[in-house]
Amino acid sequence: MKKILFILSVSLINLMTIEAQDYAKVIAKDSLKQYNGSKNFYEVKSYNDQSTTQKPTNVIFMIGDGMGVAQIYAGMTANKGHLFLNNFKHIGFSLTYSSEDYITDSAAGGTAMACGVKTYNAAIGVDNDKKPVKTILEKAVEKKMGTGLVSTSAITHATPAAFIAHQPHRNMYEDIAADFLETDIDVFIGGGYDHFTKRKDGRNLVSELEKKGYIVLQDMHSIEHFNSGKLAGLTAPEHNERVSVRKDMLQTSTQTALNLLSQKKKGFFLMVEGSQIDWGGHANDITYIVEEMLDFDKAIGVVLEFAANNKNTLVIVTADHETGGLTLNKGNMADGSMIAEFTTGSHTGVMVPVFAFGPGANQFTGVMENTDIPKKIEKLLGL
Ligand code: MG
Ligand code: ZN
Repeated sequence: MKKILFILSVSLINLMTIEAQDYAKVIAKDSLKQYNGSKNFYEVKSYNDQSTTQKPTNVIFMIGDGMGVAQIYAGMTANKGHLFLNNFKHIGFSLTYSSEDYITDSAAGGTAMACGVKTYNAAIGVDNDKKPVKTILEKAVEKKMGTGLVSTSAITHATPAAFIAHQPHRNMYEDIAADFLETDIDVFIGGGYDHFTKRKDGRNLVSELEKKGYIVLQDMHSIEHFNSGKLAGLTAPEHNERVSVRKDMLQTSTQTALNLLSQKKKGFFLMVEGSQIDWGGHANDITYIVEEMLDFDKAIGVVLEFAANNKNTLVIVTADHETGGLTLNKGNMADGSMIAEFTTGSHTGVMVPVFAFGPGANQFTGVMENTDIPKKIEKLLGL
């Protein structure tokens, strides 16, 4: 009898718990997500920005993959209120939707910021009709500027790929690797060695790169000390490890790229990606996000140090989209702690911030399309 009573009461508690959960779900789905729209449209007044317009000779374009405002604030909280990013005074917002989807992926987002066109998710440097669109990096090469790509993922992964490759789908890693042979880029550093060597077509792209005059390096010590010539740094078979393992790979690679590109007479265009903020978001892992966010911020520090000395350098920091629907429900700036909550394991559609520093920075305030960013850069560089 006692046993039966026990089972009954446990069942009742379970039932009540399930009911409570269902109730919470009903609230979340039917009440909190509800917006009835408005018929009261109104005019918005325009204001003139009085800042002077100067033109840079170098542009460093930094992309935190999956880096929304909450990811930045998580990093800021973890570092007790301080980020290199706090130096930026010209700030705007970028609309990230792709041509077909409210929620972009990194391929369409990267293509938008490299080519200035909205395209379908998974597209690499091609438009909606799968036609190649010249990237900002390719235009810089045509103008005899120096060019570079640095990433903590594989260099063939969507974000860096969108600046140099033209393929209908982001998962065509071997075709994307082959596209690196089609452009006269000066330096690229990231993972992806296997996409250049272990290929279905039997080509060895490392030997082909060497024939084109590149030095191909795999270890960070050699990359750190490389100071003249063309460099292909392939630092992992596929993606680089997370920051606790790869250490200061991003900062060191960024510094090496700057050492090489600053020798260019006609200026340079460099894209630097903090790839794995996104992966922390997909994993709903706040520790992963904070670590990768702070690593990216330190790379921003390397870049700001360069830009502060070389006054002709415009620095743009933005994201392709937010990942995880992250928010912070509790936090403490004094001890760097916080409690995170996620709404999804995917990307979200919210605006992402755009930070600008240096000549031309005043062009990057307000709300803009992600496709406006390369257009603005091209205008400033005269591409
Ligand atoms: Mg990426
Ligand atoms: Zn992602």
